[in-house]
Amino acid sequence: MTAPHTGGCRCGAVRFEASVEPHHISYCHCGDCRRASGAPVSAFVGFLTEQVAFTGKALKMYENGPVTRSFCGICGSPIAYVDERLEDHIYFRLGAMDMPAYFRPTHHAYVREQLPFVHMPDDLPRHLKTSVPRPDGQGPGGYRQNGIQ
Ligand SMILES: [Zn+2]
Ligand SMILES: [Zn+2]
Repeated sequence: MTAPHTGGCRCGAVRFEASVEPHHISYCHCGDCRRASGAPVSAFVGFLTEQVAFTGKALKMYENGPVTRSFCGICGSPIAYVDERLEDHIYFRLGAMDMPAYFRPTHHAYVREQLPFVHMPDDLPRHLKTSVPRPDGQGPGGYRQNGIQ
């Protein structure tokens, strides 16, 4: 399978398309993603914002510090997050992709917040905190307890 890659929410009111291959695919074990998703572990597929196009008018945003998470205002499905310190990047929820099995994560982020009963026996690199360094040298944990990615 090659680009473009498409995705959307549960009800179909939010749709998006990425024109290229992702530059980043990872699991995130942080508490902030856990709250935002309700799931014990999250996974993300990263693209450059300019490589992505949205259709539909249902996309809603929730801002928390430098991080803005988006979701469908109709069905509530989480869609993506952006971090103002990672300008021009967008990270989609792996489960929002139409072909999620194609996007195999290459590492784990925030394993220091991993739930003790979550066992994922792979050999992927594991980062205690963020796997995507911010320009200020801080992960999201630099300004609060939990972070993403
Ligand atoms: Zn929806
Ligand atoms: Zn996270």
